[in-house]
Amino acid sequence: MASAATMKALRKTQPARGLTLGAAPVPSIGPNDALIRVRAASICGTDLHIYGWDRWSQGRIKPPVTLGHEFCGVVEQVGEEVIPEKARVGDFVSAEMHVNCGWCRQCRLGESHVCRNLRIIGIDQDGAFAEFVKIPASNVWRLDPSIPEHIGAILDPLGNAVHTVLAGPIAGQTVLVTGSGPIGLMAIAVAKACGSSTVFATEVNAQRRAMAVKMGADLAINPAAEDSVARILGETGGAGVDVLLEMSGNPSAIQQGFQALRAGGRASLLGIPTESVPLDLVNDVIFKGATVQGIYGRRMYQTWVQMTELLKAGRLNLEPLFGEREPLEKFEAAFSMLQNGHAGKILLYPNGLPR
Ligand code: NAD
Ligand code: ZN
Repeated sequence: MASAATMKALRKTQPARGLTLGAAPVPSIGPNDALIRVRAASICGTDLHIYGWDRWSQGRIKPPVTLGHEFCGVVEQVGEEVIPEKARVGDFVSAEMHVNCGWCRQCRLGESHVCRNLRIIGIDQDGAFAEFVKIPASNVWRLDPSIPEHIGAILDPLGNAVHTVLAGPIAGQTVLVTGSGPIGLMAIAVAKACGSSTVFATEVNAQRRAMAVKMGADLAINPAAEDSVARILGETGGAGVDVLLEMSGNPSAIQQGFQALRAGGRASLLGIPTESVPLDLVNDVIFKGATVQGIYGRRMYQTWVQMTELLKAGRLNLEPLFGEREPLEKFEAAFSMLQNGHAGKILLYPNGLPR
């Protein structure tokens, strides 16, 4: 039971650039919630957008709200209706931060990752950049003891990568990952672990291209310096890749990805463009007989099961991804490193650094 009535929390308090570290009430939980003491939380690209107060944030975020949607921690308290199978005090857990309604058409069809009434903890309600976070017990994901704390903190973006890679056949396939940000980098590791034959990565940032190779890419191409489509066609005997995993949201990367896709291939699009993207549907989709799919969030809870199995089996080496580990108080330094193009995942520790 949390004794303090207030806790440290990193919040958007004003409709303006920046974040404030201050005191917030410890969340009071309902009968079906769990209160989690946060061990480690990771900063996502979305948090940078909210820090900078871009147009998207202005339309979505209602201050005051505590940020943070990538985390792990220990269950501190459970509501009176929470069965022990869902969460027990002392469990080491992470959580699915997309909260679905359970009754809309998609939820009833088992497609709750595209629930019509989705709310995101850390965006629409108080999140995990705090000493404690409140989570519906149904969304709590108990972690296998073999999963270390720093990995437990990045299961949300890792789940995005696993969802995208496993949204179609992958074993024995040639794969192009466009964009080697944190999620693209994780997708490279997942694709390799799941038996992809050759993984190509494109990325304009040199540090991230080097990381792509560390994560298992066979070739990392700089599309600003060479014709990436010609190169990939050359490397695949003129056929193009079997699978495109789009992880940049960049319009020209998306167009090049489709051009490098073989006829009959699969394009799984996760990256979020900030503008409309013109596509040559006739030549790049229709005549190619391509399968195109949007990817959102993580499948509840198929993706979590698959991700856990890959981690338990020791199939993913994610260590090259990790950068600085800071107490929550050092958030300004952490955010500015990421704003300056720092390639790794930076972890924040609201309850102090690990001993
Ligand atoms: P990120 O912005 O760190 O990564 C994008 C990468 O693409 C960067 O490294 C950038 O240098 C690279 N890039 C830019 N232009 C390029 C080009 N022309 N060719 C190749 N690479 C290029 O983001 P991230 O956190 O890794 O997330 C990846 C994308 O997924 C983002 O667009 C993010 O908004 C989106 N996202 C989607 C979901 C979802 O559920 N659909 C969830 C999380 C993130
Ligand atoms: Zn729903």
